Amino acid sequence: MPFAALGLTPSLIHAIAAKGYAAPTAIQTAAIPVILNGSDLLAAAQTGSGKTAAFALPILQQVLHAAPTGRSPHALILTPTRELAMQVGEVLRVFARFMPEPIKIAVAFGGVSINPQMMALRGGTNILVATPGRLLDLLDHNALQLSAVNTLVLDEADRLLDLGFAEELTRILALLPAQRQNLLFSATFPGEVQQLADTLLQQPVRIELQHAVESQPAISQRAIQVDDKQRTQLLKHLLQTEQWSRALVFVATQYATEHVAEKLRRNNLAATALHGELSQGARTQALADFKAGAVRVLVATDVAARGIDIEQLPVVVNYDLPRSADDYLHRIGRTGRAGATGMAISFVTAASEAHFRLIEKRQQLRLPREQIAGFEPQVTPDAVVVTGGGIKGKRKSKKDKLREAASRTDQPAIAASNPSGFIWPTLGVRAKPNVD
Ligand code: AMP
Repeated sequence: MPFAALGLTPSLIHAIAAKGYAAPTAIQTAAIPVILNGSDLLAAAQTGSGKTAAFALPILQQVLHAAPTGRSPHALILTPTRELAMQVGEVLRVFARFMPEPIKIAVAFGGVSINPQMMALRGGTNILVATPGRLLDLLDHNALQLSAVNTLVLDEADRLLDLGFAEELTRILALLPAQRQNLLFSATFPGEVQQLADTLLQQPVRIELQHAVESQPAISQRAIQVDDKQRTQLLKHLLQTEQWSRALVFVATQYATEHVAEKLRRNNLAATALHGELSQGARTQALADFKAGAVRVLVATDVAARGIDIEQLPVVVNYDLPRSADDYLHRIGRTGRAGATGMAISFVTAASEAHFRLIEKRQQLRLPREQIAGFEPQVTPDAVVVTGGGIKGKRKSKKDKLREAASRTDQPAIAASNPSGFIWPTLGVRAKPNVD
């Protein structure tokens, strides 16, 4: 079905053509008419499915002829991370280019000065994309109102809750008008997301795409057995032999992002770290350098990489395995996007073999284990003592605890085999973070 059949105005069709999209993705075909129709929507879709345009396009159409409302936006889009907020803002701007009247789009997120964001909101805005914490700050500063919000979008609702935004959401929802359209997008539906959907949505239309891995056959998944201490060398070897134009490498800790990036740089590979403790300026720069090709390897933690949209990313490497099966999906969804082919490689060490099996089980997946010549593991799983309590010598951060709580509700299969809910196996006597 072509975009033109979905009920979108000619100026949006023009912008879609200029962007180069030939046909709508499955989520776009299903969601756009529903949103234009004014219904509430519950969509199971993750990053990579084209979900941003699925709500951005109809929202732009809806706000086009809406009467001015002073200090309240017509549409409010809440995202879990700054990166995702910026990305959604960018998509909206690209599609608003040919609209007959200018559409004001504002983006607000924490970690940067609030003043420019307050200034940007001064003359009113049609669409506001925001992270929940900063939105509340702006409301506290009287920088805007929410009294005329017609459409609310919760983007990546599972992540919003994972990252501990439940309380902020409750406060924000209380400030919205009762009569409005609600759109909830989520990759996964643990109990708390379901509960949120039940309270938020009025007779929603439900859209469920196929399971993400099945709907993205373009991603080939590999598991390479390697010793803990050989991983950086192996990564370097793969970067040199497999000729990837660039790679997104996931590690478990902020320390590891810096450490692995530094080691690669020492080997003349342009690499940079991306983690939550970097200033917003440094994060934006790291992403921009990676997108522009100035940096070949981006070494990132999960939270920092959430929602990143990089076109033509050939490979994602799990240097450290993700903690949960859902994080595995989120990570590999960074590659093979919207029809392009992609590869996801997981380094499986003796200590993480059992954990990887749990991820496979949850994903109904069984990958053959590969070994790379010169990097055959010397340590066998039997020789490893696995303890369940996190990385020894490292105190759990607030986010670790949140993630623990999230994985308890989120991951029944894994949680059942590990009552602590913390599923990061480590070697028994390790005082330093788990990087070589
Ligand atoms: P999203 O799931 O919204 O993060 O989008 C994932 C990627 O798919 C982005 O790079 C979009 O530019 C791209 N995309 C979205 N819709 C389409 C489409 N209809 N045709 C081709 N690419 C698309």
